Parts: sequence; C-alpha cells; structure tokens
Amino acid sequence: MTGRPPASPVNVDIDLRATGRQFGHIRVPHSSHESAYGWIAIPIAVIGDGRGPSVLLTAGNHGDEYEGQIALLKLMRELEPAQVRGRVVIIPRLNLPAAAAGRRTSPIDDGNLNRLFPGDPQGTPTAQIAHFVDSVLLPMTEASADLHSGGSSLEYLPCTMAMVPESAALKQRLQDAMRAFGAPVTLMFDQVSSNRTLSSAARSRGHLHLATEIGGGATTCPATQAIADQGVRRLLAQLGMITADQQPAPASRLMRVAGPSQYLFAPVRGLFEPLFDLGATVAKGDLAGRIHFPEEPERAPREMAFPDDGVVVCRRVPSLAAPGDCLLHLARDI
Ligand code: CA
Repeated sequence: MTGRPPASPVNVDIDLRATGRQFGHIRVPHSSHESAYGWIAIPIAVIGDGRGPSVLLTAGNHGDEYEGQIALLKLMRELEPAQVRGRVVIIPRLNLPAAAAGRRTSPIDDGNLNRLFPGDPQGTPTAQIAHFVDSVLLPMTEASADLHSGGSSLEYLPCTMAMVPESAALKQRLQDAMRAFGAPVTLMFDQVSSNRTLSSAARSRGHLHLATEIGGGATTCPATQAIADQGVRRLLAQLGMITADQQPAPASRLMRVAGPSQYLFAPVRGLFEPLFDLGATVAKGDLAGRIHFPEEPERAPREMAFPDDGVVVCRRVPSLAAPGDCLLHLARDI
C-alpha cells in the first residue's frame, strides 16, 4: 500500500480554470442494462475572469427541491462573463439521477447525496458525486451555497441556514452573506443533524458556506422562486463578484435552532391533523396536532404537544405519517 488515495473515475469535460463562460458536464461512470459504457452527465457551468473569489453554487442535491434548480438554470444562462470578477461554478442538479426522477434520493443506488459526504471514489454513483465535490470543487473555491427547499415531505418558512461558526470574524462574514441573500428568515443552528452533508464538507474545507430551505412540497411559487433568483445574485454582489443590480435585501428575521428538543416526530402510524400553520408562534405543551387511526375509527386519536416554545419554521407536508417522521420543528428569535 502506498497510502495514496484511489483515483476517482469521475471527470469533467471542461477546463474548470478557464475564463469566460463554459458549459459542460461532470461525467460519472455508470454501466447499466440500458447503457453498457455509459456515464451520468451532470451539467456544470463555470463563468468569470478568475481574478477574484471563486464560489460554488449547487442545487438539486436533493432532486425534489426546485427553487434552487430553477434559479441556477437562469443564472448560468444570464450571467455574463464580463460581469463577473472571480469565478462562479454552477451546478443546478447535483444529484442528477435524483433530480431527473423528481426524488430526494437517487433511483440508481438509493443514495441520499447529502448524507454521503465526503464521498468515496470507489463507491456508488452518488458517493462518487460527493467525492468529486469534496475533492475537486470545494478545494478550488472559497465560498459556497447549497440551495435546498423542503422537498416532497417538508415545507419551510423560506430561510437561509448555517451552523454558528467558532470564529467571530467568520461569523460576521457569514451573517453578512446570509443577510444579503435576503430570505425572510435567517436560521442559525447550534449543532448539525448530520456531519455527512455538503455543508459539513464545505465547513471542513474552511468555506464561507450557507444553505437554504426555500419553500417545499416539491413545487415552487412566484414568491419563493423570487427569493432564490434574487438571493443568488445578491450573494454574488455581497462577495464583490458582480455589481448589485437587485433591490437591497429585505429585513430577515434572525432565529436560532438549539437542538433536537425543538423537533416533533410522529410516535405512531396514521393520519396527521396539524393544529397550527407554518409560521405560527406556539407554546410548549399546547396541542400541536393529532394522529388519527382510520382503520380503528372507534379509537381516539393520539394527541401530541409542542415540544418547546417557538415559531414553527418547518412542517410535514403529507398527511400520512409513520413512527419517526418529522412533523414540525421550531426556532426561536435571537
Ligand atoms: Ca433538502
């Protein structure tokens, strides 16, 4: 054994350090019944003059989250190289097989890309995508944003989110970037729910990194799409890479998620009846909802209380619920 890490079979068909605007593909080998020597072709664009910061913008990490995908498709067409100081790397559908299927996870290997970082060059296709991002794209950039929405099972108050950094200087830069993005809510997390996310990998690489949760329910609407469209441009302007041509960011409500005690999970299987709206201010112990037992109509529903005081920033979308499903989570104003 030499100790040298195994080479990745993933490659990219453009020069990531060239200037101007380039469209190309990240090529992930995938030999299947339909395509013996085939590869997964993930669209990527690199735009800029290389004389300034380098930023990675991703969406479609989860395939059923759309504001970010649409915002980045617009950005990669509309951003003129002459406008950009530095380099913007744009990938609208990072887990392409998942996005093409409209699913959170990849139908090829059931891979949840955002639970597979830092990836594995010899792993499943989804693990190979994570490894390429971690070993090639994060080291060549200094800042990144990974654009999520709630997806098929959740809906969020539109927000930017990040872990609270240890460094005071980075915390200030991060909160400036989040404020510039201009989502109605800025969510700061005290702890991570998983250290296998793109966000965790970006932090490990020293990135200025934010994520978003913009809406949900596996759809978009004009209001949430506008947040994503304008947010990515305001972020680039904040980083000094483009001249701001957007309206200034609206005020954002700064909130904190302390930990697991602010989440409510389904204890039993049945039909979930929420007794709150997204955005409601609630009190610990108040009735949050019921789970009905449609196969046992004579049985009283199970009642569930809010686990803490706070604001409901996230709720479950499907009414069908099973043990372990997240029904809501709360945050508190800072
Ligand atoms: Ca997501």
